[in-house]
Amino acid sequence: MALVVQKYGGSSLADSSKIRNVAARIARAKDCGSGVVAVVSAMGDTTDELIELAEEVSDSPDLRELDVLLSTGELRSCALVAMCLKSAGYHAVSLSGAQAGIKTDDQFGMAKIAGLDTERIMAELDGGKIVVVAGFQGITPGMDITTLGRGASDLTAIALAAGLGARRCEVYTDVDGIYTADPRLVPRAAKMDEIGFEEMLELASYGAKMNPRSIELGMVYDTPIVVASSFSDVPGTLIHGEADMNRNVGEIRNRVSGIASDTNVAKITVQGVRDRPGIAASLFEPLADVGISVDVIVQNASDGGTTDLTFTVKRDDLRRAESVVRRVSEDLGGRGIVSALDLAKVSIVGTGIQDAPGYASTMFRALADEGINIEMITTSEIRITCIVSARQVGEASRALHTAFDLDAPS
Ligand code: ASP
Ligand code: MG
Repeated sequence: MALVVQKYGGSSLADSSKIRNVAARIARAKDCGSGVVAVVSAMGDTTDELIELAEEVSDSPDLRELDVLLSTGELRSCALVAMCLKSAGYHAVSLSGAQAGIKTDDQFGMAKIAGLDTERIMAELDGGKIVVVAGFQGITPGMDITTLGRGASDLTAIALAAGLGARRCEVYTDVDGIYTADPRLVPRAAKMDEIGFEEMLELASYGAKMNPRSIELGMVYDTPIVVASSFSDVPGTLIHGEADMNRNVGEIRNRVSGIASDTNVAKITVQGVRDRPGIAASLFEPLADVGISVDVIVQNASDGGTTDLTFTVKRDDLRRAESVVRRVSEDLGGRGIVSALDLAKVSIVGTGIQDAPGYASTMFRALADEGINIEMITTSEIRITCIVSARQVGEASRALHTAFDLDAPS
């Protein structure tokens, strides 16, 4: 029997009428004769609310207990969806991540899936039931509940689709697909019919609202992902392994597929550290040790034996990063640190931009013509990212969208 794995995001489950809508869609898939596994996120902003609640009772909530708390958001959703299906006469069962066989390591808050035991799910499917799984969570070998990182219900769904051998994973959300830019910033953004895994991974890592680890997992297991709206039947965007090659045949102009933007950016400059081997390592090791990931790094040319080092972190990590870096900078005899919060990343993404000249210069010219100052630049093979002022992220995105011929006809 064909197997369908669907995932419904928090905004698609925000209240009881939306839950009924989701249950109706799941039932429709079942009526088509497929086995159905539905992975659900926490209702609306539940996860944020639970984090706030934790912070009201503790200045730094214990990570194990926080995971127990956060896992309840998804548990509520899966129970409610299964309940709704059952009262409509369907056979259904809700499963927690642990019951669904999602095994993880013990990195609370950001656990990695270590294995999948599909026995229970298979038994329920064989019994004709619709299986509704709580996303975003798993269990350690020591039976502790873990969560997989923000937005990681996608990861649960894609892991299950891959592990159960589904043809693809359907991800339902409040938008009807992946756009060439954030439509709230760029009114002429267009929905893409398809996009390759590699490009989607870069877009997701640099601002598009999808969990990057789930794209990576889809890529590794070659499980295509369809992103579509839970509120309509408009076809969504197919993320898969073949899009890149098809599009690039003779198509120079379309080598930029999309513009990503992200305002969750802060920077720290460490001033006047001695320029000698080991400085960067002694700065970044302690940051890695406390789980802070550093993104763009720029080291200035050294002047009189000392140098400035600037790097970006997520805004939410700034305070913690500052306290680590201040300590290390003092040890290194640095002059001190300065930081700024009001930054954003804008990126152009497309396979093949590396092999073709002119993309960087077109990007810089488009930003310059809008009077936008570039603070830092970083690239990968298929991406160029500029750090700009957060105030200008909309203008920057629109300028790049036009410069790279992505504007939808108006
Ligand atoms: N509820 C979790 C979050 O908000 C996981 C998810 O939505 O995918 O991050
Ligand atoms: Mg959520």
